[in-house]
Amino acid sequence: MKESDIRKRDVLNRYLELVEADAREIFRDRSGFQQIACPACLANNAEPQFEKSGFQYVQCRQCNTLYLSPRPTYEHLMQIYTDSPSTRYWVEEFFMPMVEARREKIFRPRAEFITLQFPQVRTGAIADIGAGFGLFLEEVRKLWPEANLTAIEPSQDMAGICRKGGFRVIEEMLEDVDEATGKYELLTAFELFEHLHDPERFLNNVGRLLVKGGYVYLTTLNGLGFDIQLLWDRSKSVSPPHHINFFNPSSMQKLLERTGYQVIGISTPGELDWDIVEGAWRHEGKNPGRFFCTFSENGSAESKKELQAWIRKYNFSSHMRVVARKL
Ligand SMILES: [Zn+2]
Repeated sequence: MKESDIRKRDVLNRYLELVEADAREIFRDRSGFQQIACPACLANNAEPQFEKSGFQYVQCRQCNTLYLSPRPTYEHLMQIYTDSPSTRYWVEEFFMPMVEARREKIFRPRAEFITLQFPQVRTGAIADIGAGFGLFLEEVRKLWPEANLTAIEPSQDMAGICRKGGFRVIEEMLEDVDEATGKYELLTAFELFEHLHDPERFLNNVGRLLVKGGYVYLTTLNGLGFDIQLLWDRSKSVSPPHHINFFNPSSMQKLLERTGYQVIGISTPGELDWDIVEGAWRHEGKNPGRFFCTFSENGSAESKKELQAWIRKYNFSSHMRVVARKL
């Protein structure tokens, strides 16, 4: 897979410009921003790394988690998700034109993964947190027509689309979902964790809605991954105020263990790290260092494929997949 298969460079760049403009507008007053402890290990021992669009990122000296601190309050942060020009652009120009490509390259493989990883859940209750347009649930339904599928989606427009798709919909933030509406054998959350104001609280709420022994399957960004490490503050994955937590395989494990989960597997099956680094260098002049410039120029297609396979195999991709079980 190539980065251009799932997103267009000029559209992504325009979107990031709009995010920055929205962020400057919404967060003009930063007096309410609060310093936070490491969201993974709770240490108060972080080293400042860089400022981006006026937001400060720090890295925990104990567990290497990269995170935004000080950060806005939850309510303040939510403003950018509700009705901002950047969110509208994301839906209309970024997501919708690539929807079928993303279904095939991203959502279908995720659904196939659950059929392999959780065969016992085949007829059980499954909910996707932040279900968006319901693409993941649609793909699950094709493979597991008997599963009982729910979309947890707070956006009214997207909840409406999921409802039209025939799914049960809970139109709320996870935090507000009442256990009386049912418990689940499997909860999924894709590309959500990096956005969360309070990841620990999120996992506590996931746990509250899982049956004992139920599973959580999520994907997020690995701050120790290849393209993020090479590009660091220039990485487009580091985009405040959306992406504010960059856990890594070991800090994610710590967080899960202290919130009542048994880790089943944490891996980084990403396919795009090298392509992102090479694209950033060739098209945008972001220098990844002398060796990787040389490699981009002189490496064969085969060697680049092998590099990506190595990145995946040894858990150095920026795309992280996490499976854990509620104790
Ligand atoms: Zn830490």
